[in-house]
Amino acid sequence: MSKLLLFAAPSGAGKTTIVHHLLNQFGELEFSISATTRPQRPHEEDGKDYYFISRERFQELIRQGAFVEWEEVYEGLFYGTLKSEVERLWAEGKHIIFDIDVKGAMNIKKEYPREALAVFVKPPSMEALEKRLKARRTEDEHTLKKRLARASEEMAYENKFDRVLVNDVLKEALATAEQIVESFIKQS
Ligand code: ADP
Ligand code: 5GP
Repeated sequence: MSKLLLFAAPSGAGKTTIVHHLLNQFGELEFSISATTRPQRPHEEDGKDYYFISRERFQELIRQGAFVEWEEVYEGLFYGTLKSEVERLWAEGKHIIFDIDVKGAMNIKKEYPREALAVFVKPPSMEALEKRLKARRTEDEHTLKKRLARASEEMAYENKFDRVLVNDVLKEALATAEQIVESFIKQS
């Protein structure tokens, strides 16, 4: 049976880094490419990291019922999981890994309680999180503030998750993430 691995975290906690590592390690895993209206970052690829679409197109897809779930994660910025994406990966018989916000993870978990594992990636502290976000250099002062404000809200969701993965020393977090995935995909 295909499994759904949901990785959620406050922005800057390291979830993208961890998800990329897992995709390299496990050939049977595929990434669920979300649709978003946020601007593309320099190192991102359309159709690989996200489907970058306009707000009008996003709203049309909502009307058509094309999403498994969607959220306005930041004011005016929409993110969503397309049904067609999940069906495509499911048809390939892959386990699916999601990089998704805390609410999206809970919604998918509710819909697929048996197939899904929800993992909360936790930064060692809010200070570390701020430092990482600044060092990533993808945000201006305004969006950085928004992400940090939302991060404190998201931290409250920790105990709703199946597993909490603290990302302090990256190497250790990656090893733990591998163990979590390995034991979950082995379960029937
Ligand atoms: P997210 O996807 O959760 O927003 P990223 O994976 O983009 O986070 O990580 C945010 C930044 O922190 C990146 O520049 C990344 O290289 C760095 N980073 C990730 N994990 C660690 C860690 N354990 N220690 C220090 N820096 C890290
Ligand atoms: P970023 O802009 O840093 O790539 O992502 C911002 C937030 O949106 C992250 O928490 C990320 O996990 C989340 N996100 C990405 N794709 C989706 C999605 O399809 N649905 C939901 N609900 N959140 C998503």
